[in-house]
Amino acid sequence: MSFECETCVRRFHSYVAVCQHMDALDHWGPIYECETCSREFGSQHAANQHMNAVGHWAPKIECDTCTAKFHTQDAADEHMDALGHWKHYCEQCERKFQNANNLRAHLNSKIHRGTQVHCPFCSAAFVTASGLSHHLETGSCRIAPTLNRNRIAQLIRQFDPHHYITTKQIEYHSSSATSTTYEYEVTNAAYNGAAWECYICHREFRSSAALRQHVNSPTHQQRIYRCPNGTARCGREFVSLAALFNHLESESCGFMRFEKVVKVQRSLTDAMTGNGRRLIQSEAFFN
Ligand SMILES: [Zn+2]
Ligand SMILES: [Zn+2]
Ligand SMILES: [Zn+2]
Ligand SMILES: [Zn+2]
Ligand SMILES: [Zn+2]
Ligand SMILES: [Zn+2]
Ligand SMILES: [Zn+2]
Repeated sequence: MSFECETCVRRFHSYVAVCQHMDALDHWGPIYECETCSREFGSQHAANQHMNAVGHWAPKIECDTCTAKFHTQDAADEHMDALGHWKHYCEQCERKFQNANNLRAHLNSKIHRGTQVHCPFCSAAFVTASGLSHHLETGSCRIAPTLNRNRIAQLIRQFDPHHYITTKQIEYHSSSATSTTYEYEVTNAAYNGAAWECYICHREFRSSAALRQHVNSPTHQQRIYRCPNGTARCGREFVSLAALFNHLESESCGFMRFEKVVKVQRSLTDAMTGNGRRLIQSEAFFN
């Protein structure tokens, strides 16, 4: 009888000898452990057989939130359902969401925010400051139909002499568009069922090509607003007030809390209606 080394081809006459050899040359074969109990096996196959037979596989599917692990996705889902442990989860509504964006949109929706801003002219209610801005900039307000993106830009420029949220453009109606180079693509979303509609000024066009030309005209390309986040040097510029508010509401540059954005919108609309006109004199306006 001979004893085989677990690693090389050498054979020995006694168990003691083979052990000495394997000790000396570190020739012990690998050990395969059960994932649950303390048993060890000479091959992965043997370990697998054992774990299959007695159900000793370690659970591998993790809870999104706590450290619990499960053997099946169903079991993990059941746990996360029961304890509200989904990664993107609204506790109030006991609803889960695919990703962080969807959850944020949900938390910013009417259900959670309620309507916070009202049109100062027609009192239509909006959930976000960008929603109200869009209403006014697109000339959708039936009480103040003369307001549009250009008119609002003029007003806001008037009470933002230090350019905290407006860009420094000497000639607003300038037709030179030499600095801006990118083009907006007109997507099918611009088709309102009857015509191609400009999302900025609401004008309608017969073809997407005509709308494309219009949207890329110098007035529409002009970035009138800038993010007031001076400390972090966000510096992003926007073609509409709605786009600026949308940026602030998204909290992507972390400049303002959502509630604060609504307050700023209120001051701006107050100014538009001539109530409590207050110049934006310093960054304190935003704090
Ligand atoms: Zn050996
Ligand atoms: Zn075991
Ligand atoms: Zn959990
Ligand atoms: Zn919810
Ligand atoms: Zn209105
Ligand atoms: Zn337009
Ligand atoms: Zn910003």
